[in-house]
Amino acid sequence: MKDAAPQPVRLSDYTPPAFLVDKVELTFHLHPTATRVLSKIAFRPNPAAVERRFFLHGEGLDLVSAQIDGTPVTPDITPEGLTCTVPDAPFTWQAEVRISPETNTALEGLYMSNGMYCTQCEAEGFRKITYYPDRPDVMAPFTVRIEGDLPVLLSNGNPAAQGAGWAEWHDPWPKPAYLFALVAGELVATSGRFTTCEGRAVDLNIWVRPADQGKADYALDALIRSMKWDERVYGRAYDLDVFNIVAVDDFNMGAMENKGLNIFNARYVLASPETATDRDYENIERIIAHEYFHNWTGNRITCRDWFQLCLKEGLTVFRDQQFAGDARSHAVKRIEDVIALRARQFREDGGPLAHPVRPESYTEINNFYTATVYEKGAEVIGMLRRLVGPEGYDKALALYFDRHDGEAATIEDWLKVFEDATGRDLTQFKRWYSQAGTPRLHVTDDFKDGTYTLHVEQETPPTPGQPEKHPQVIPLAVGLLSPNGDEVVPTTVLELTEEAQNFAFEGLGARPVPSLLRGFSAPVILDRETSAEERAFLLAHDTDPFNKWEAGRALARDVLVAMLAENAAPAPAYLDALAAMARDEALDPAFRALALRLPGEDQLAEDLHSRGQTPDPLAIHAARERLKTAVAAHLGALWPQLYDQMTCPGAYSPGAADAGRRALRLTALAYLARLDRGARARTHFAAADNMTDEIGALSALLEIGAGRDELDRFARRWRDDRLVMDKWFALQVSLAHPETAVDTARRLTEHPDFNWKNPNRFRAVIGGLTMNAAGFHDGSGAGYRLVADWLIRLDAVNPQTAARMSTAFETWPRLDRARQALIRAELNRIAAREGLSRDMAEMVGRLLS
Ligand code: ZN
Repeated sequence: MKDAAPQPVRLSDYTPPAFLVDKVELTFHLHPTATRVLSKIAFRPNPAAVERRFFLHGEGLDLVSAQIDGTPVTPDITPEGLTCTVPDAPFTWQAEVRISPETNTALEGLYMSNGMYCTQCEAEGFRKITYYPDRPDVMAPFTVRIEGDLPVLLSNGNPAAQGAGWAEWHDPWPKPAYLFALVAGELVATSGRFTTCEGRAVDLNIWVRPADQGKADYALDALIRSMKWDERVYGRAYDLDVFNIVAVDDFNMGAMENKGLNIFNARYVLASPETATDRDYENIERIIAHEYFHNWTGNRITCRDWFQLCLKEGLTVFRDQQFAGDARSHAVKRIEDVIALRARQFREDGGPLAHPVRPESYTEINNFYTATVYEKGAEVIGMLRRLVGPEGYDKALALYFDRHDGEAATIEDWLKVFEDATGRDLTQFKRWYSQAGTPRLHVTDDFKDGTYTLHVEQETPPTPGQPEKHPQVIPLAVGLLSPNGDEVVPTTVLELTEEAQNFAFEGLGARPVPSLLRGFSAPVILDRETSAEERAFLLAHDTDPFNKWEAGRALARDVLVAMLAENAAPAPAYLDALAAMARDEALDPAFRALALRLPGEDQLAEDLHSRGQTPDPLAIHAARERLKTAVAAHLGALWPQLYDQMTCPGAYSPGAADAGRRALRLTALAYLARLDRGARARTHFAAADNMTDEIGALSALLEIGAGRDELDRFARRWRDDRLVMDKWFALQVSLAHPETAVDTARRLTEHPDFNWKNPNRFRAVIGGLTMNAAGFHDGSGAGYRLVADWLIRLDAVNPQTAARMSTAFETWPRLDRARQALIRAELNRIAAREGLSRDMAEMVGRLLS
């Protein structure tokens, strides 16, 4: 926390490091409040440097001593680091600093979680451990010695030596400091072995606290499948003798790809059928894969500076999406990814926090681990792959690994390998990295003399700091269906490059029905006047599973918009189409479950806003409830049928097939609850033998305002399991009736188990409230006030997690004036706080501008 307003860092100001590092040796004498860190670092002037100033980052460090080539020195110390006069030749820097892990509540640097030591260094946490050039373009091999009275002492790389109370690790692969990690604690491992395609035998360990033993089998299985997949699909083999993963209870984010020692939020490692839902298993699989894939896309090839964050994150998300599609269902995975993209990234891109996939300035880099950098970053790579084709993509990636292994690279390097491998000019494509905002496509069509023509216009709205936009390269995947439902033109990719373009399809016997943006081929908003009949036709006939789902989704949205505008009854055409789809046994149950899910309230607010209306969160909630009840009634007899049909015989398996059946069955159960006042859900809850069923039944009850007894029983059963109790906290807030949501959240913050310094618990309750749209946006402003109070409180302790949650306010510009004023008042109240963190100060500043 700083006094003077911190200055933004700009991409255009990048200069190469003045000194490079050949070798790092660290020794840790662990102590909760007085850990001693000894460093010995071999520096050498960088021939490519433009200046010679020796500067080491360091924050909150207590410098005990410093030497250069063995001679004591007295550096100039500021709150950001130190400078010192150094020789104009290679030299050795040695220092001893003292730090206090136990009082480190920001969970960045070296900290303690339930008695164990652990680290989080990305993006700039290493400077809280010792003085160092803490920037990703300085890469070095590390040797680490840990001394501490704990049974398990881990760091990056391979084990070098160990004895009672100490261990040494050596990581031969040069890495930036943000990939450094250390763990020490009382831990037990679930272990396995993997032999790489290059013949290297690798020991795999998933470390957990003794009480969690037995809950790491799935994570280990997911790890082994990830290792195989990366060899098979990307030709990437693992490069050390051990791969360690540690589950930590207090963690700001999902997980971290430290070289050879991944550190995870425990919720993305621990699973048993009794305690984890199908969704949890899916997340574990995805995040284990994501962090593992970083070993090549992130670690072996890292980022030159933090503006290039999407270089590793966009690519690694794209890779984990491919992996999950291969492991499960590509269609279902794509639909889920697009639901999440629209909910988080489109929302971000359309509000005050919009920024390019590669931002050009930041004050606090932790504020840029966003849906735009990650998810839009992945979409950009998906478009690139579509444009150059799978072979072109594979060639480019092979060149990327070959050319940049061991380097800290840029987006320019990344695009250059595609240009060199495929001969394509990507100058215009590069705008995807620099222009913020979601492009809109306006499409009209006509048909004459057998020729069908699509007229497409593109437009990207202004975003903060970017009033003018230029046309982008947009791959628009299109198929045409004949009126009898046959596909007359299979999927073709049209390349939009101009503001307005026409595309003609000749030799057609009748006016076709277009299926546009198949597979969601670009992260854009498609605007086209479409009748309900045409949507129903596509829902029934489209061969593209994404667009089939999309047609149903658009129908539901139109029905809801009409219900809101005219208080209309739900259109029977929609209800009939939904019934036909739900009954269609040729369709994957997981797909059917997705198609039966109505668009979320926040999504509807966004849709209304984009139609020039001011959304009313309470009216949206009420309309959506009415539609749910209408769907429940209209498909009435189908629910018990689906419920009986979709059982999963045999032992619980988290695989896609059973998970899909459970999803459809629980969807049926939730609709049924509206018809039988929860009778079946109560029986289901009582009989549940896995957490998916337990949570499914409990949610169905909470949604109809029932479930008090079940909540109590749940709490009694699970009070000692913190991850399960996070669900208990989150569910009752996020599913509370709008009128009681704020009180429920407040009551839970007074619960003895509301440990607000634990990010998972904080997110469960406070984040749970922000996800209850109608409750959070209560007209009194009570929801805003409660969230702001807690953001202020948490900011003093853990700026990163607090700042992240401030994004709950990013939709204020689309709300009515009264709510806008209430939110602005809360943001101003936060902004006026003395001692506000750099993280939060930047966020509220951007939110208010
Ligand atoms: Zn990542």
